[in-house]
Amino acid sequence: MHVNPNFEKLPGSYLFAEIARRVKTYAAAHPDANLIKLGIGDVTRPLAPAVVEAMQKAAAEMLSAETFRGYGPDYGYEFLIDAIREQDYASRGITLTQDEVFISDGAKTDTSAIQELFSQDAYIAVTDPVYPVYVDSNAIAGRLGDFVDGRWTNLTYLPCNAENGFVPSPPSEPVDVIYLCYPNNPTGTTLSVEQLKPFVEYARKHNALIIYDAAYKAFITSGTPHSIYEVEGAREVAIECCSFSKTAGFTGVRCAYTVIPHEVKGFSAAETPVELNALWKRRMGTKFNGVSYPVQRAAAAVYSTEGQRQCAETVAYYLRNAALIREGLAAAGYSVFGGVDAPYVWLKTPVDSWSFFDILLDKAHVVGTPGAGFGPSGEGYFRLTAFNTREKTEEALERIRRL
Ligand SMILES: *Cc1c(COP(=O)(O)O)cnc(C)c1O
Repeated sequence: MHVNPNFEKLPGSYLFAEIARRVKTYAAAHPDANLIKLGIGDVTRPLAPAVVEAMQKAAAEMLSAETFRGYGPDYGYEFLIDAIREQDYASRGITLTQDEVFISDGAKTDTSAIQELFSQDAYIAVTDPVYPVYVDSNAIAGRLGDFVDGRWTNLTYLPCNAENGFVPSPPSEPVDVIYLCYPNNPTGTTLSVEQLKPFVEYARKHNALIIYDAAYKAFITSGTPHSIYEVEGAREVAIECCSFSKTAGFTGVRCAYTVIPHEVKGFSAAETPVELNALWKRRMGTKFNGVSYPVQRAAAAVYSTEGQRQCAETVAYYLRNAALIREGLAAAGYSVFGGVDAPYVWLKTPVDSWSFFDILLDKAHVVGTPGAGFGPSGEGYFRLTAFNTREKTEEALERIRRL
């Protein structure tokens, strides 16, 4: 048996493994250093009480034969799908049928698996810097060519930087799929409806597909769109992936959903239109047996009045940290981006991004994430996250100010 040769093409050590290695080496050599981690891409606040109560109640139902549940519906329980349709979409004027929403165990699962619907020769574009999952999943599938000098030879990078205000332009060459993530990880920036329009127009004109990752929509404070479907015409060309991970602290609980309107179509080998919704159903039926009942009950509780209020408090806690980071860095003379509609702040580094990582670690005992790890246009930038405690965040900023 030969292994999939594409694994060998993946760049050596995964970004966060390299960071962990450097931090471990540093901590071993400096055992008294009190390191503060602002590189965390994971939530830290506990679950909402309403969510835990729903989970406990659902677990108790499993104790009696009358209320026990085995396999659930392949695509998710109606009680959760309907809550999503009503509160995340109908409230914004977007109508979805029950079978256009698919419940899953994670947006990483879905954004990495969605490429199974594309032909082998589908040509991909990503914004740069980028959440690595979109790139690596297509690389493993063999679509991206080779990784040479920090770039895949068969991938279109759409640069996002201070020069273009982090507003990417649609591809200048024909592509089949564009991955967008807004509010953005890692830059923390957003796009308005007007700024998303050119992408929808591009996709409609070139029969391209948009994969829209809205994992951070709960952090939006500035009125930018919560869904790609707020852009006219997006229903025919976009799939949207959302998650309870950052919205409601579900990173360890696991629940997410993907929306595929019936209008979204690709072409068969014989050039006849094919609904991607039907292909995804077929794929899920083959590869997935659903998210556990207690977890889907927990996710539905996010939409209860109490759940909404409690989750909003936690999001506000993180956004206060993001504001502290923005203001602290600006006061220290850095150019900062993001952090208004997202738990991420992106700053311009005075040196290259890995050197800045080492300086920050050595001189301030603060750990962040070098922008270069997110793609070629991330060089010269650095990501700090708002997921630590308020106290630690304040202390980290104080140390950075003293640098
Ligand atoms: C955290 C994150 C997700 C969420 O992934 P889950 O698998 O649902 O935990 C999705 N997309 C991006 C860009 C993220 O940063």
